[in-house]
Formats: sequence, structure tokens, C-alpha cells
Amino acid sequence: MMSALEQYDPLIYELIRQEAARQSGCVRLIPSENYVSKAVMLATGSCLTNKYAEGYPGKRYYEGQQVTDLIETTAQNRAKAVFKADHANVQPYSGSVANLAALLSLANPGDTIMGLALPHGGHLTHGWKVSVTGKIFNSVQYSVNPDTGRFDYDQIADLAKKYKPKVIISGATAYPRQIDFKIFGQIAKDIGAFHVSDIAHIAGLVVGGEHMSPVPYADIVSTTTHKTLRGPRGGMLLCKAEHANKMDKSVFPGMQGGPHMHTITGIAVALAEANTPEFVSYARQVVKNAKVMSEKLMELGFNLVSGGTDNHLMLLDLRSKNIPGKKLAKALDRARIVSNYNTIPNDPAPPFNPSGLRIGTPAMTTRGFKEEQAVMVAEFISRVAENIDNETAIEEIGKEVLLLCSQFPVPDHFIIPNNGKKAIV
Ligand SMILES: *Cc1c(COP(=O)(O)O)cnc(C)c1O
Repeated sequence: MMSALEQYDPLIYELIRQEAARQSGCVRLIPSENYVSKAVMLATGSCLTNKYAEGYPGKRYYEGQQVTDLIETTAQNRAKAVFKADHANVQPYSGSVANLAALLSLANPGDTIMGLALPHGGHLTHGWKVSVTGKIFNSVQYSVNPDTGRFDYDQIADLAKKYKPKVIISGATAYPRQIDFKIFGQIAKDIGAFHVSDIAHIAGLVVGGEHMSPVPYADIVSTTTHKTLRGPRGGMLLCKAEHANKMDKSVFPGMQGGPHMHTITGIAVALAEANTPEFVSYARQVVKNAKVMSEKLMELGFNLVSGGTDNHLMLLDLRSKNIPGKKLAKALDRARIVSNYNTIPNDPAPPFNPSGLRIGTPAMTTRGFKEEQAVMVAEFISRVAENIDNETAIEEIGKEVLLLCSQFPVPDHFIIPNNGKKAIV
């Protein structure tokens, strides 16, 4: 397939090759990124991209669905099995679209919704003002306690009682601690609100048993498929049987036209991979690596929001180091360590030049890094911070990072053995 591309479009072929080299020659710490397996990549790059399949299995608007129906049903059944959910919709194009569809299946424009504020670790689509969710709904935002960096559930409950939102959203994009979805469910129940839980970041940890599942406590659970879950880019919704019909209608025809069948095919494969003992070990190692890395970073004088991590990500508060987040992120990138600058709770600096750095372990764990390498990465980060204005030193660190990467080849060869395990469907 690549050689056809090489012949027809040498420019794009070369750019893909360069991106593959970049992904292999650096330590990727952006906590929402990962490497998919070759099997997922193959399924995603398959002929299913050629097929229109508006509707749902058995109820399509175009003919020729003999195979697509089987694929989508397989993906749905696998999703239901790994997340222990009544119902699954695997069509959302992304996490953002999934969230909007979830909200619109439980509330109408103009209703009040409540989610975590973006600068406190929430996602845009949890009602932040520049997002459509902040424009069409009356959005109330909760925060983390600025002293602890953690949720204060009593405060969230008080806010809920005061504003009586129709929907409360739990979940985050930059929150390093466990989230108690049971309490969120209770807070919602107490005021007669619906509970939407967004596990985009931690879905893989939920499947691997490293994080509490919101499925028993939420009306709808939303997720991406490409973060810790390690599938192709996409979104997915899970819900209780009572919400199935309206939730499906909210996705199609409410939000979308034809589903991306090639993505759904890749999601089906990723869900089979997630249902293996290997994936459980992976999730455990992601959390172990984050713990070790956070401890090493604190030992090296970094402040971490909330004082550490329970999951796959860390939020560094760089004020004590006197380095703006963007400056460190860019220096790290030159040293082949890729992260993203991020706000910290109550950040005194502006959002485009915030005081924090967000890093995580999902991708480096996929390429085989364990505790020993996690410590090395923490030391590299510290050395870059110490040499922030010394380009020669940064280049030298970059060479050492490359050497480490070369010992852990990226999963071009990365196929999770299925060990003859029985298929779910
Ligand atoms: C990444 C993320 C999303 C959005 O997913 P996209 O696929 O980028 O649209 C939604 N919610 C949370 C919590 C996320 O972290």
C-alpha cells in the first residue's frame, strides 16, 4: 500500500515517513496520545472507508450493508462487553461530537449544564464559553480546590443545588487524580439531574481496572477511542437501556450523517485488544510509570498540581522553577521530549502562556518503557529545565533521548497477542 502511495504522491509519502520517524525518535508525553497496533492501523486504513452506512445495523438508508452491519454490531458488542454497559454507540466522529450528542439527548438548548472549567482541567465541550456547549446551554462551571488541586465534592454539590442543572458532567482532560463517579452520580440524583461522564482520557485505565468505572453511576458515558484506549481517532457513547433510543437519534440523524466505517472497524479491533490480559498489564504499567515519574520529578524539585498522580498524567506547576510552560515545552521538544503547556488551577498567567506543563505515560508505556525509563525521562526533563537557555546542552540531551528511543522501537511491530482467546462476539 505504501509503495502505491510512494509512486503516486511522493511528497505525502515522504511526509508520512518523516512523521513516523519523529514518532519513533522522541519520547511522546502528551497524555492524550498513543501508538495504535498494526492491526488497528490496518483496519482503519481498509476499504471500509469507501462505504456509506447512514443509519444503524439493520436500519440503513443505503444498500450494500451485508458486511458493515456485522462490523458495527461487533464493535457495539465488544464495547458493551469491555465496559459492561447496556448499550453502545460507536459512531461519533470524535470525543467532542460524542459529548455534544450526549448533552443534546438529555437536555435542550437553553437548559443549564454543569461541568469542570477548562482552566481547572475540564474539556472545552464541558460548557466552556468558546465551545458550542457553552453557547447553546446555560453553562455553570465548577472548579478544583486551588489549595489541593482536587475536587471538593461538597462544593460541587452546593453549586448543583444552587443552579439545578439538567445535566452534570464528570470527567476531565487534565486532572491527575481518581474521580469518584459514584459521588458525582449521587450529586446528580439528589437534584434530579442527569449525569454524563466523560472518560476520554482514562477509558483504557477503566477497562484495565486502574480507575473506577462510571458506567454504573452515569446516564451516559462518553469517551474517545484513541487515548489510553489505544484505538483509532474516534468517539463512543455508552448508556443505560432507557436512554438508548434517544441517544442513538441524537448521534444520527441529530449530529452526524454517514458513520466513518473504517474508524468503527479499527475501534472493533482496539476493543478486542483491550479485552486481553496484556492490556490489563499495559494499564497497570501506565499508572506505575506515572507514579514513579511523578515521585522522581518531585525529588528533583518540581511542584506537581495535587502533589502527585493517581492516573496516567501529571500537571507540573512551573512557577517555582520560574520557567513559563510554553518555554519549557518548546525546549523539551528540541530535546526530543514532546509535551504540552497547560494552565494550572487559578493560573496567574494567560492561557496562551500558562504556568504549567502536562505530561503523561500512555504512549511511552506502549513502546515498552518501564519504571527505569520513567526515572530517566524525569531526569531528562529536569536537565532541560536546568539548561533552559543552553542550546548546546539541550542538543546533547536530545542525543541521549534518541539513544533511549532506539532501544525501544516503536510499535510498527506492535501486535498484541490474542493467545487463542475466544472472540467476544
Ligand atoms: C480529548 C477529550 C475530548 C475530545 O475528544 P476529540 O476526539 O479531540 O474531539 C473530550 N473530552 C475529554 C475529557 C477529552 O480529554
